[in-house]
Amino acid sequence: DMRIAGYDDELAQAIAAERRRQEDHVELIASENYASPRVLEAQGSVLTNKYAEGYPGKRYYGGCDYVDVAEQLAIERVRRLFDCDYANVQPHSGSQANAAVYFALLAPGDTILGMSLAHGGHLTHGAKVNLSGKVFNAVQYGVNEHGLIDYDEIERLALEHRPKMIVAGFSAYSQVMDWARFRAIADKVGAWLFVDMAHVAGLIAAGVYPSPLPHAHVVTSTTHKTLRGPRGGIILASRAGMGEAAAEIEKKLQSLVFPGTQGGPLMHVIAAKAVAFKEALEPEFKAYQRQVVKNAQTMAKALMARGYRIVSGGTENHLFLVDLIGRELTGKDAEAALGRAHITVNKNAVPNDPRSPFVTSGLRIGTPAVTTRGYGEKECADLADWIADVLDAPADEAVIARVREQVTAQCRAFPVYG
Ligand code: PLP
Repeated sequence: DMRIAGYDDELAQAIAAERRRQEDHVELIASENYASPRVLEAQGSVLTNKYAEGYPGKRYYGGCDYVDVAEQLAIERVRRLFDCDYANVQPHSGSQANAAVYFALLAPGDTILGMSLAHGGHLTHGAKVNLSGKVFNAVQYGVNEHGLIDYDEIERLALEHRPKMIVAGFSAYSQVMDWARFRAIADKVGAWLFVDMAHVAGLIAAGVYPSPLPHAHVVTSTTHKTLRGPRGGIILASRAGMGEAAAEIEKKLQSLVFPGTQGGPLMHVIAAKAVAFKEALEPEFKAYQRQVVKNAQTMAKALMARGYRIVSGGTENHLFLVDLIGRELTGKDAEAALGRAHITVNKNAVPNDPRSPFVTSGLRIGTPAVTTRGYGEKECADLADWIADVLDAPADEAVIARVREQVTAQCRAFPVYG
C-alpha cells in the first residue's frame, strides 16, 4: 500500500482536514477557486517525473514526445481562449511570469510605473519588498478619493518620470480598467505596456471583462484564480499589441522564461493547464463567469444596504473591498470574527488606509470559489447578510455561533468535490 494514510498519518490528517475545511467553510478569498477533478488528476500524474528543459520539439532531454503533446495542447488552447498569437505556458507562478517579462524588456535600474500594493496593485508591480521594486526604479500610482483609477494622474506621472514600462492590472480593484487608455499613455512616453490580468483572466476568457490583449505589448496571468486551473503562470501577447517589435519581443520572452529565470518546466502542471484551458473553452464557462460577476454585485449591494461602504461604490468584476475606515472594527479583527463563523476572507488595505498593512481598515471579498460550488444570487444575498450580522457584532459569540451554523448548512447543500 503506497498511500500516504497509514504511512505518514500526520500529513494524511492535515490533507484530510484541509479537504474538510474547503467543504465546510465558505471561501470568499478573491484569488482562490476550486480546481476541477480533471485538473487535480493531471497535477497528480506521472508527468511530474519528466525533465523537459527547452520547448516542444527543441528539448535538452530525451523522452519528451508525450510531454511535448501536453505542452503543445496547452499553448494552442490558451491562444484560442484569449484570441492571441504568442503563449508561453511554462512560468511556475504569476510572480515568475512577471519576473521573466521584466527581464525580457528592461535592464536593471530602468524606471517602471505600476499600481501600488496599498491601492490594489500586486507586490510584483514595483513594491519595495519585491524584486520588481529592488531591481528597478519603481514609481507607483494609486486610486483617487472615489477609489477609481485616475488616468490623467497616471499620464502626469508618466510624463514626469518617463518610465520604460507601464504596468497595469491589479489584485484589489473592482472596476473596469481602460486598457486602451493605458496604451495611449505608454505610447506617448515610448514605454512598454505590460498588463498582469491574473485576477480577471477567467472573466476575460469568457468575454465578461474587456481583454487587454489587443492593447498591451505583453500580458501575464496566473492560471489558478478566476481561470480555475492549477497554480501557475502564463505569458501571452498579440501581434496587434506587440506591433513591429513582435518577433523580438517573442524571442526575448522565450529565452527569459527558460533559461533566463527558470529551469525545467513543471510538465504535470502544464498538463493541468491544458485541461483547464479546455474546460474554459466550454460554453458553461461563460455562464459561470457571468454568475461570478452577478454574485459579487449581489453581495456588494446587500452589504451597502446594511450600511457598509464599498470602495468605488460597487463592482464590475469578481471582487470588491469593504471600507471600514472610521469604524472601531479593523480589517484584522473583521477577518478573525468572520473566520470564527467559518467565512474565509482576507483583510485588505483600502485607499488612504490609516492603519498598518498588518491591521488594515478593509476586507476583500470575491465570488469565484462560491460560484464554482453552485451559489447563485439567493445564496450570496444570505451570505452577505450573515457577514453584516458578524461585522455589526464581532464580539457576540452567540451571533457568530448562529452564523457558523447557517454557513455550514449552506456549504453542505453545495458540496465542492462531493
Ligand atoms: N499578479 C497578480 C495581479 C496577483 O494578484 C497575483 C497573486 O496574488 C500574482 C500576480 C502572483 O501570482 P503567484 O502567487 O502565482 O506568484
